[in-house]
Amino acid sequence: MSLKDDLRPDLQLTAILRQELKRQRSKLEMIASENFVSESVLRFGRSVFTNKYSEGYPSNRYYGGCEHADELELLCQARARKIFGCEHVNVQPHCGSSANMAAYFAVLNVGDVILGMDLSHGGHLTHGASVSFSGKLYKTEFYGVSEDTELIDYDELMAKAEATRPKLIIAGASAYPRIIDFDKFRAAADRVKAYLLVDMAHFAGLVAAGLFPSPVPKADIVTTTTHKTLRGPRGGMILCRKPLAKAIDDQVFPGIQGGPLMHIVAAKAAALGEALEPEFIDYQRQIVKNAQRLASHLADAGYRLVSGGTDTHLILVDLRSKNLTGVAAEKALDKAGVTANKNAVPFDRQSYAITSGLRLGSAALTTRGLLEKDMDLVAEFIVAALSHHDDDNQLNKIRLRVEEFTQGFPLYPGLDF
Ligand code: PLP
Repeated sequence: MSLKDDLRPDLQLTAILRQELKRQRSKLEMIASENFVSESVLRFGRSVFTNKYSEGYPSNRYYGGCEHADELELLCQARARKIFGCEHVNVQPHCGSSANMAAYFAVLNVGDVILGMDLSHGGHLTHGASVSFSGKLYKTEFYGVSEDTELIDYDELMAKAEATRPKLIIAGASAYPRIIDFDKFRAAADRVKAYLLVDMAHFAGLVAAGLFPSPVPKADIVTTTTHKTLRGPRGGMILCRKPLAKAIDDQVFPGIQGGPLMHIVAAKAAALGEALEPEFIDYQRQIVKNAQRLASHLADAGYRLVSGGTDTHLILVDLRSKNLTGVAAEKALDKAGVTANKNAVPFDRQSYAITSGLRLGSAALTTRGLLEKDMDLVAEFIVAALSHHDDDNQLNKIRLRVEEFTQGFPLYPGLDF
């Protein structure tokens, strides 16, 4: 098949892509771990670098023809170092989970003790959950939030560290709406001579903008995804101090990955370039303002928010007092044109398939240009959908209003497949 043949439209595939574009355009995207990349990031992410193998690292590749791949990777690294002020960065991890895996492999042996945040209190699967490689390869211990404040229980963290002597302590979470005190994590790690890894996947954009304390000066290793608040392509990165650089690089390649996805490294570089622009700080500020405005409306409507609110892009709603499960809320919102996900709340008695919570995020809507006043209407849609969660007629009416509303915030205008 010639390249020209490849340009013949694949109608089946085109139809799927068109439907997905329509879905993204016509619904309110509120999954806290998602965002919309810029058209520039989208373009670089589908560049000719998809054709290139470049196993290894700049100036030390296992393939020929890597001179431009070298330039690209060095540029991406330099931008990441400039934004986060780290000594070393690896931009090759295909995702956040592989970034964590490579980081663990760099400092742990199978059977070592790790101490991470309980999944049901907001931690991530790769922080020790039994279904993840992290729970299968290591002895896992967990800290969580205190029942009264729903903030990380730093006394429990220190006590658990002293009692279990982990080799690695993991900070960072997937469903924790508050600032994290990295000094307290450092103190716990120092007390037991453990490594400290901060997984900043969710709040990396806020860190880049100086709106969340940087974990870089405190942690031995910082991992992240590039596609959440950082607004890059799906992917991962690992930041570390110089002494760990070789061990980490060796674990990314050849440890757990083969060739890097250089088109994605290009898209990461494009996103990091955007994060270096002054407007990025305004964007991140707006993310937090939008989340806080929504949180205050939900609280006014009688919804209990875990920890009472948010410092970030993320809100965790406890639906128990409304006699609603997370799964029912997710389904009702979907029918009303709002995409979000069910999530366990701390001390949840429901299974992970059902849950008592709803996680909402403001990053993607902020990218579409929504401001606080627009969040007033978003809150109205959400509250109306949750109140009529078993009334398809009402949900359909809300969906029509949502569709009309989203047209005021064009997404990728002019883009087609
Ligand atoms: N770490 C945290 C804190 C996350 O929230 C996530 C994903 O949501 C990951 C790691 C894993 O990222 P990925 O889905 O890219 O493997």
